[in-house]
Formats: sequence, structure tokens, C-alpha cells
Amino acid sequence: MDCLFCKLVAGEIQPDKVYENEFVLGFKDLYPQAKEHYLFISKEHTTHANEMSENHPEQLSHIFDAIRDFTKSNSLEKDGFRIVNNLGPNGGQTVFHTHFHVLGGEKLRGFGA
Ligand code: 5GP
Ligand code: ZN
Repeated sequence: MDCLFCKLVAGEIQPDKVYENEFVLGFKDLYPQAKEHYLFISKEHTTHANEMSENHPEQLSHIFDAIRDFTKSNSLEKDGFRIVNNLGPNGGQTVFHTHFHVLGGEKLRGFGA
């Protein structure tokens, strides 16, 4: 399948990994939108969060467990962070392998902040 993030999972492209377990990969976003910007994905392919929650709801728990582990292991949980998911063209999704952005390392603007 011609999917960029599946290629990262397969090791065909080496991301800057920050987290990995049996189910989930966390890595630095190549074009960071905040001082710290990571992407968390399931190793199994789905195209967007609605497809994931419908067909593989356990993957949502795996991803949020991974984000919790990761953000507890550094200053992100203490200082706060934002989780973002973009779905489809209006949401700004550009990579069609479900992923959750984790943004932090500074005070973030928008969403009432
Ligand atoms: P989306 O816009 O689909 O929500 O997020 C896709 C994200 O993937 C973007 O923030 C973009 O910077 C990031 N990205 C695109 N190509 C690559 C890549 O090859 N490696 C990494 N680490 N991030 C990428
Ligand atoms: Zn994929």
C-alpha cells in the first residue's frame, strides 16, 4: 500500500522515533508547528479516526495509552499539551493513515487559549 506512515512502520523510512510499543509508534513531526510536535499512530493502517473508532476501537486506547505513557515520562503532562486530529480536506488531513498530533513545549494559541 502506498502510505507514507505504513512505510515508517515498515522501516522503509526512518522517522525520529520518540515512542514505540507493540501497537503504536510515536515520532517527531517533520514540520513542527510548536516547540515540541509529535505524531502518534497505530502500526495497523486505517485512513482516519472515524474509520479507526468504527473498525478498530482498541487502537484508540492503544494510542491514548501511549500518549499518556510518553507525556508522563517527560515534562509534557506537567506543563500541558494539546492533542489534535485532522479528518479529511476541511480538517486539513494530508496523510491518510490515522494520526494524532501531540503539541507542546510552549504556550499554544487558538482554541480559546
Ligand atoms: P495532517 O496534516 O494529515 O494532520 O498531518 C500530517 C503531518 O505529517 C504533518 O504535520 C506533516 O508535517 C507530517 N509529515 C509529513 N510527511 C512527514 C514525514 O515524512 N515524516 C514525518 N515525521 N512527518 C511528516
Ligand atoms: Zn498506512
